[in-house]
Amino acid sequence: MTTTPQAAADGTVVSIHYTLRDDDGDVIDSSVDSEPLDYLHGAGNIVPGLEAAMEGKAVGAKFKVTVPPADGYGERGPDPKPVPRSAFPDDMELELGTQLFVRGPDGEPFPVWIAGVSDEDVMLDQNHPLAGATLHFEVEVLSVRAATKDELEHGHPHGPDGHGHH
Ligand code: ZN
Repeated sequence: MTTTPQAAADGTVVSIHYTLRDDDGDVIDSSVDSEPLDYLHGAGNIVPGLEAAMEGKAVGAKFKVTVPPADGYGERGPDPKPVPRSAFPDDMELELGTQLFVRGPDGEPFPVWIAGVSDEDVMLDQNHPLAGATLHFEVEVLSVRAATKDELEHGHPHGPDGHGHH
């Protein structure tokens, strides 16, 4: 006999609606008017401060949690660096806030965000756009289920049809 998990724990796929606000109460991001967010608990799919607050939360729970930068998208690090626009393909759309991956000195790709675009340069920022921000989440737990073997191996949830992003 298997039991259906009723609360967020390692190895469960949790579906939530959330609203994220900044210190001024302005909404930064929200799932409420679109699809809920599904994540695999314990796999680092969501910021550490929110994942910790989710631990043990039951279906139907509604709560608020304030996450400091260190448990969110990190403190701000180095300032953005200019890269000549000519280093990018001509047909590439260079939009503010777009995430790119660049190869580091060790050959490993790491994320950067476009923080500014001028005629000559593109400013690339290693900081997540929300680095340094205190995150105010309002969360409702919609459902919890046991993750499948595939999901556990991949470290993220798959769609209801079983293949999601693949
Ligand atoms: Zn996968």
